[in-house]
Amino acid sequence: MKIRFLGTSFGAPGVGRYQQSILISQGGGLYIFDAGAPVLDCLIKYGYNPADIRAIFISHLHGDHMDGLLDVLNLAEYYGIRCPVYLSERRGIEAFENFAFLQHCKKCENVDFRLIKSGEFYRDDNIAVDAVLTAHMAYRELPSYAFSVKCGDRSVVITSDLSPTLEDFPKRRADLVITECAHLSPEAVCEKITSTKTPAAAIIHVAPTEKYNTLEAMKDTVPFTLLTPEDGEEIEIL
Ligand SMILES: [Zn+2]
Ligand SMILES: [Zn+2]
Repeated sequence: MKIRFLGTSFGAPGVGRYQQSILISQGGGLYIFDAGAPVLDCLIKYGYNPADIRAIFISHLHGDHMDGLLDVLNLAEYYGIRCPVYLSERRGIEAFENFAFLQHCKKCENVDFRLIKSGEFYRDDNIAVDAVLTAHMAYRELPSYAFSVKCGDRSVVITSDLSPTLEDFPKRRADLVITECAHLSPEAVCEKITSTKTPAAAIIHVAPTEKYNTLEAMKDTVPFTLLTPEDGEEIEIL
């Protein structure tokens, strides 16, 4: 399972950083987790074929996690993309279907919008994906999700955005956790990662960016491999 960071910024783009998007490639299939970055531009830049997208998963309906989806809808037919797009809210499905209608003057038939449900909601011959409800949007009584992605006996947890209390940090051990540091302190998130006994963590979506200095200093002290990837970096989990 290969993981490439297409966008590692928080709620606004940074220098050399798009907003959040993570690509997992496995068995010739491409899986997009959040689409804050211009997904199609990134796939082409890194030499992927957009037609290999097997599914897109949007953790919650904040712009920095979904705005890159618009080009996928616009160009799905051109690139031969046919895939499900999983969204966290039904109103998002209606909005994106309307947007597809606006762009194409017809229903976007290449993209099949579906609603995320807690527990395992996606499985194909390469990966299985569990959704874990988080409290990031609880202030508006709306759902948001973390994802646990399994490939054989390997797994990656992508927390996406969390509640400042961190009560919703998924209590799962994985081979890698990808999490954020915008709504919480570096110390608090590292304590949570440590509690899951996950051996490696990639922290993205960092704000303010001064927190990178703290995270860098913590790399020698935390009991797991702490990564702070930049856009384009790739990790392979063997
Ligand atoms: Zn965000
Ligand atoms: Zn958010």
